[in-house]
Amino acid sequence: MKLPDKILKATRVSEGKDFALAAHKPAEGFGLKLKKADAKALLAEGKEQLSAMQERLYADDRWSLLLIFQAMDAAGKDSTIKHVMSGVNPQGCEVHSFKAPSAEELDHDFLWRTTCRLPQRGRIGIFNRSYYEEVLVVRVHPGFLEAQRLPPSPHDGSLWEQRFDSIRDFERHMARNGTRILKFFLHVSKDEQKRRQMERIDNPDKNWKFNARDVDERAHWDRYMASYEEAIRETARPHAPWYVVPADDKWLMRVIVLKAIVAELEGLDLNFPQLDAAATVKLAEARKALEAS
Ligand code: ATP
Ligand code: MG
Repeated sequence: MKLPDKILKATRVSEGKDFALAAHKPAEGFGLKLKKADAKALLAEGKEQLSAMQERLYADDRWSLLLIFQAMDAAGKDSTIKHVMSGVNPQGCEVHSFKAPSAEELDHDFLWRTTCRLPQRGRIGIFNRSYYEEVLVVRVHPGFLEAQRLPPSPHDGSLWEQRFDSIRDFERHMARNGTRILKFFLHVSKDEQKRRQMERIDNPDKNWKFNARDVDERAHWDRYMASYEEAIRETARPHAPWYVVPADDKWLMRVIVLKAIVAELEGLDLNFPQLDAAATVKLAEARKALEAS
């Protein structure tokens, strides 16, 4: 079975202007009725494709790939990242998680801590949360800004508009310099989140995942959704698209994420370096030397 292209098209947002979150349903199945066995087969295939593409990315050595994962709690960021990671060579991939900023991080501008962790050419970087938290959780809890000690701004526009400007500028700069940025919003419904949080309470093996603060955050659900919608609207661009991935069905979500990454890498025209005539002669000489040794 193949994942229909229309599904990747439906989840990919490359121009944010008219973006409406309401048009993207967390339980959307695209009429696919994906069975777990089908999903597993697609994931296995996707992992093989990703592994082959990663080798090309590394050999080509011009591009780097940055995958940003944003989601409400229990949407499945961790397990999705685990699946993506299991399809890549760990030597060419790094995962970074961004939680509430440290004192040192608060002493810098809001893009600093993530900039220090950007992937090198030929490599894949995965951000589990990112600078987008600065227009999401910080927007929902503007009290967090106090710790940032920002001086009055000489520029027009609200702080959030300025942050969107900074993010757009930053992502354009990265695109120009060879980093392909893909942003994934794992879109879980409020009901499904509740079911998963309940499960974390009721199943002793999952108790360690439970965090009472996540339950408190549910009270701000609508503001989070409004902030996600605006962040996507303001920052979805052809060179830095968002994928709004239905997350109520974890298997479908993982398949979409993996296949989207493969499709984007295929679009980069990654090539193995070709040897020039002199290098080909050297190679033949080395072979002779090896034979004689
Ligand atoms: P998990 O729960 O699976 O371990 P997580 O990413 O939810 O992963 P937590 O330690 O539970 O990790 O939560 C991290 C918290 O840090 C989140 O609530 C997030 O919104 C918050 N956070 C991240 N970046 C910022 C920021 N710049 N300012 C304030 N809070 C932030
Ligand atoms: Mg958490």
